[in-house]
Amino acid sequence: GRGNRQFYTPSMEASAIDVLQHERLLREAIVDNAFVLHYQPQISLEDGSLQGLEALVRWRHPQRGLVGPDEFITFSESRGLITPIGRWVMREACRQLKEWQDEGLALVPVAVNLSALEFRQRDVAGEIAAALRDTGLAPQYLGIELTESVLMHQTGQVLDTLNALKALGVGISIDDFGTGYSSLAYLKRYPIDSLKIDRSFVVDTPGNPDDVAIVTAVIQMARSLQLKTVAEGVETPAQVQLLKGLGCDLIQGHVVSVPLDAVALQRWMRDLPV
Ligand code: C2E
Ligand code: MG
Ligand code: MG
Ligand code: MG
Repeated sequence: GRGNRQFYTPSMEASAIDVLQHERLLREAIVDNAFVLHYQPQISLEDGSLQGLEALVRWRHPQRGLVGPDEFITFSESRGLITPIGRWVMREACRQLKEWQDEGLALVPVAVNLSALEFRQRDVAGEIAAALRDTGLAPQYLGIELTESVLMHQTGQVLDTLNALKALGVGISIDDFGTGYSSLAYLKRYPIDSLKIDRSFVVDTPGNPDDVAIVTAVIQMARSLQLKTVAEGVETPAQVQLLKGLGCDLIQGHVVSVPLDAVALQRWMRDLPV
């Protein structure tokens, strides 16, 4: 898929045996729960305070160490293995947040990514309600990130699911905003809370005037629709200054922090200015 690396390099023909081996290891990983969540902070451009986290899954690969989602999410979808992984991610994010809350740590919402296929195949609203109930996490501490492709299919099911999540109090963000095929009409049809401006529009700012124009327009539109904006992949102080001047609400990216495991995140939070 777009921007996705495969588990083999393009120069190397993946043999059927490689594919089967990858699938066998992934099946074992599901049985062994050999996944881990990393959390990337989202901070306010107004005062630098921590406002949210994004949960990003990694696979503890037996030979290769931690493997990123681009190397197994799309693959797992093609092999019918995404459902158990997605369910684990949702429950683990809720469990971890509740644990932090029980330890008395300051809590901000965590957002979980859901692919279009997961959204179609699973009873997302029912599963989220169950995960919240079973872990005891309050719904306002959970969000989901959807891509525009979910909203492209104008089904009543998508609207029902999003309305159910909204009623629960779960936050809804559009991920990679601006990169998908879709109309802007969905922004008023669905109960969306925030737009995440895709990294590809941020990476060449402030130098590239076309990208500056796009980012400016997205922020202005979001503001008039009362949607929050989160800029993804922010890497430089110059980008921070630009986004702040444009009225972007939150930033996420290496300039703030790379995604961190649970322990490293707590260490990072302790060092935050209060
Ligand atoms: P995403 O949701 O758009 O997540 C942002 C990606 O950008 C993450 O890559 C993150 O590590 C990376 N990133 C963040 N800040 C920067 C930066 O400043 N510079 C650069 N170059 N990159 C940055 P990651 O963790 O490899 O995840 C890739 C994609 O995999 C995610 O894109 C998301 O679409 C998908 N994904 C991750 N976790 C899950 C999951 O639990 N379920 C599903 N369905 N998809 C997931
Ligand atoms: Mg995301
Ligand atoms: Mg994104
Ligand atoms: Mg992205």
